[in-house]
Amino acid sequence: MRHVIALDVGGTGMKAALVGADGTLLHEDRRATGRERGPDAVVAGILDFAADLRAHGIDRLGEPAAAAGVAVPGIVDETRGIAAYAANLGWRDVPLRTLLTERLDSPVALGHDVRTGGLAEGRVGAGRGADRFLFVALGTGIAGAIGVDGRVEAGAHGFAGEIGHIVVRPAGTPCPCGQHGCLERYASAAAVSEAWAAACKDPEADAADCAKAVTSGDPNAVRIWQGAVDALADGLVTALTLLDPRTLVIGGGLAEAGETLFTPLRDAVRRRVTFQKLPTIVPAALGDTAGCLGAGLLAWDLLKTTDGMEVTT
Ligand SMILES: [Zn+2]
Repeated sequence: MRHVIALDVGGTGMKAALVGADGTLLHEDRRATGRERGPDAVVAGILDFAADLRAHGIDRLGEPAAAAGVAVPGIVDETRGIAAYAANLGWRDVPLRTLLTERLDSPVALGHDVRTGGLAEGRVGAGRGADRFLFVALGTGIAGAIGVDGRVEAGAHGFAGEIGHIVVRPAGTPCPCGQHGCLERYASAAAVSEAWAAACKDPEADAADCAKAVTSGDPNAVRIWQGAVDALADGLVTALTLLDPRTLVIGGGLAEAGETLFTPLRDAVRRRVTFQKLPTIVPAALGDTAGCLGAGLLAWDLLKTTDGMEVTT
């Protein structure tokens, strides 16, 4: 059966699937990324995992995968197929697409993890049917994916969608990117966890605990939470002023708070817009499978392009 390999490489784990033409997951698997073994071992682990998935396809589906899509974190040059930098994996300028193409003997698409997850949310998840959407993931950091007519904009240099580094509090908290007051210093799951841990003097307390304390009316939690919501609304209004999305899909750890986040966030965005059209603000629907599903879409897109070229040449 014709299928593709989808592989989502995260900081701690890799999720993979063999995906049929209609999006059916024919096989799923997970492995540890093993970042403690260093970047070379991580790359070798990705190549081995992909090769094992190819073998599984031959064995169980009667043919090798027709293509592969691989999503990786950090800075990704999708056009050249290079994993340029990932702080959490320690690699620099890894020609991952070439390495995978040689190993798999099939075409390979390399994508950025959040943009790839956003592609899946936009096509088959919470943004399904929206011609223009913005996906924002509130995790350790904050990143976004700008969806235009079924694809995600990567930008000229692979940096499009970095909404986490929009300055929302000039002269505010320093950010590792070199600026002060970046959105992700206030509204990421990590930032809320840090603020709540400090407020309740419990280093183990995290954003989910803060959300629970908000629902029980804890004034410190409410103050921290509303601070994050206000910063997020400031950043989102800048983004929607530029992009005019029809749907705003919010995912990542902080979005798991559900209406504890979405009700005040919708209010905060509504209060800030003047002439801009309010997009529909919805939670992400695919959870942590978005990256893997998006990697499958990248692979199938690649085949459509390749097949199209075969037809015309
Ligand atoms: Zn920054």
